[in-house]
Amino acid sequence: MDYQRTIRKAVSLDGIGLHSGKPVRLMLSPAPADTGLVFRVSAPGTLCVESEPIPAAPESVVDSHYATTLGRGAVRIQTVEHLLAAAAGLGIDNLDIRLDATEVPAMDGSAKPFVALLLSAGRTRLNARRRPVTVPYPIRVGTESRWLQIVPADRLRISYTLDNDHPAIGTQALSWTATERSFIQDFAPARTYGFLKDLGAIRKRGLAQGVSLDNTIGVGNGGVLNGLRYRDEFVRHKVLDLVGDLGLLGRPVLGHVVARNAGHALNYELVVAIQRALGLERRPATVTVLRPATVDERLQRAPSPASI
Ligand SMILES: [Zn+2]
Repeated sequence: MDYQRTIRKAVSLDGIGLHSGKPVRLMLSPAPADTGLVFRVSAPGTLCVESEPIPAAPESVVDSHYATTLGRGAVRIQTVEHLLAAAAGLGIDNLDIRLDATEVPAMDGSAKPFVALLLSAGRTRLNARRRPVTVPYPIRVGTESRWLQIVPADRLRISYTLDNDHPAIGTQALSWTATERSFIQDFAPARTYGFLKDLGAIRKRGLAQGVSLDNTIGVGNGGVLNGLRYRDEFVRHKVLDLVGDLGLLGRPVLGHVVARNAGHALNYELVVAIQRALGLERRPATVTVLRPATVDERLQRAPSPASI
């Protein structure tokens, strides 16, 4: 029997936003069964006067380019995916998440610091069962060159191919049957990456203000600038992002996801397609929040930092 979990005590950490470059404090507290992961934002340094709750759910996604951004009204929370990945990877279903700025801290660009934080809080079982998501039939989103597909399976499995022109990346492929142990060891530490040649243009758009070699694998013309944690760290980070974005469903996913050159926008498309297939969609049909897929496709075809 599989029961929902939360953490035992409140924990916090400080960092800066990858895109905003601003300091931010993150506080995680226990939450009751069936509440899911819920964000609240307060004014800097206060953590007391808060926005209304913003659930980590597909209905809350307002942008999925470069990072997954949640929002409600005028409030935005950027770059939630690595925290969501850590919670999903550790089987933590319910969390109260408070921030005193509008972006989750980048830390080292991976999910490892969030895993350590959650483990330091301890985990506890709640008196409510998990309701895993099982897809009724294969679902595919994307194009000929970039796509995601999920087929029914009795556990989560991810087979990912990342194909990039840059010789430091090339073709990286792996197939993973999800376990907590291998998530912690083999995927949570994989960092986000970016191409040096794109950094100026991205910064002009107001993004990547906090990017440094402390939180991003820097890829220059001559290769990686700050070393790798794994030979295939790039594709491992892609898997990590996918785990985080699948976390928007709020329930463990049982299925085999086969992916090629996807990114947050496509991950989000798959999440919405799964919701639709299960009849779970709550977003009004008239609301369209994503820019056309072709824009994202163009961004990601060339080597780009779109995997943040
Ligand atoms: Zn990422």
